[in-house]
Amino acid sequence: MTNSNDRDRLAARDLAHLWHPCTQMKDHERELPLIPIRSGSGVWLEGHDGARYLDAISSWWVNLFGHANPRINAAVAAQLGKLEHVIFAGFTHEPAVDVAEALVRLAPAGLERCFFADNGSAAVEVAVKMSFHYWRNRGRAGKQRFITLANSYHGETLGALAVGNVALYKDIYAPLLMDVITAPSPDCFDREAGESWEEHSKRQFAPMRALLERHAHETAAVIVEPLVQCAAGMRMHHPAYLTLLREACTDLGVHLIADEIAVGFGRTGTLFACEQAGIRPDFMCLSKGLTGGYLPLSAVLTTNDVYEAFYDEYAKLNAFLHSHSYTGNPLACAAARATLGIFESQPVIARNRELAAHMARATASLADHPHVAEVRQTGMILAIEVVKDRGSRTPYDFRERRGLVAYRHALSRGVLLRPIGNVLYFMPPYVITPDEIDLLADVARTAIEAMTCA
Ligand code: PMP
Repeated sequence: MTNSNDRDRLAARDLAHLWHPCTQMKDHERELPLIPIRSGSGVWLEGHDGARYLDAISSWWVNLFGHANPRINAAVAAQLGKLEHVIFAGFTHEPAVDVAEALVRLAPAGLERCFFADNGSAAVEVAVKMSFHYWRNRGRAGKQRFITLANSYHGETLGALAVGNVALYKDIYAPLLMDVITAPSPDCFDREAGESWEEHSKRQFAPMRALLERHAHETAAVIVEPLVQCAAGMRMHHPAYLTLLREACTDLGVHLIADEIAVGFGRTGTLFACEQAGIRPDFMCLSKGLTGGYLPLSAVLTTNDVYEAFYDEYAKLNAFLHSHSYTGNPLACAAARATLGIFESQPVIARNRELAAHMARATASLADHPHVAEVRQTGMILAIEVVKDRGSRTPYDFRERRGLVAYRHALSRGVLLRPIGNVLYFMPPYVITPDEIDLLADVARTAIEAMTCA
């Protein structure tokens, strides 16, 4: 059997029974063949037909140190020989304790408790439930509402979907979702001409402050994606917004939930995005890069104040009863321990700063393209906003599916770019080289030509 037969057979077997996430399956019948992958190494994925793809989006933003990373491979393999899983109620194990200790060491001071779940949405559910339940246990049962930002994304289970705001994912399910209060986004793409990121983000805080003042008595928490609203198309804001938000939440007695699921672990130029604002949230949700992109695991870090509100005599029924079968899975924790070990033993953040500077240089010329409204960057996340008309910033009609043209073009050049609408972005594993960044920039350039030529 030739390699391409192998590929096609596997794709056909897949289409007979599988149903993929975030996908209109009809697309795969003809226009957009599924791509079976048989192996990965570093930033590269290899298909069953031998084709190679540079994973410029870290396989949905999870991979940090490359596919088949030797150190993480060895850690998972060693754990496999000892213990694959054990119930996490009544029992514990060393990998979980090590990960919790490392997270507390690395996170902003004051986040001293770690609650595990098994994916990002579940972490958001945990933070939302814990905040609500905290106020109830503290005798403030009226604090039941949540404030979110326009264009935010926090996952797709019903609670996480409710506190998010991307219409594409949310609107259809609106009848099933709790009602939330939505503040305008500090997104700097919307800034006035001549206005700095800082000025714009600070100005956008005024309506949030007003909502907080009006609703604090009935609000449990504000939830934000610090610095980058990734699913909204890598929309970015200035850390000053987060500093103001932290101050207001503290003044008005409202929790702050930082969803660092996508931006945590070095993506924004610091280990956690909150560091750039000098803040400590009441809850920090982590997942994705936590295991280096190996296995599903998430964690909610919180304060001892929150923990103590649940600590009581059993009969008072104040405990936090949220459980997933795979909570604290030892294999996932072993991958996380190895990943955090890389951060603690190597100058990852310093190297990322160099790579980020290289990304900026490599893409600088794209900013002048007649169909590019903006090239924006926060650390290792770089986004190119492709528009129909640069002057008025008019977007292309989504039905034209120009992002798909860019996706296919990039694949034909051996790069996995997966634009969000018409926003091309790079969020590569940190083991990428400057030469590979140059390749990405060149592929982005020709992909923009392909998507805007018609
Ligand atoms: N929050 C943010 C900011 C995310 O980007 C994502 C995933 N893209 C989630 C939550 C949900 O994580 P998961 O897909 O693991 O449920």
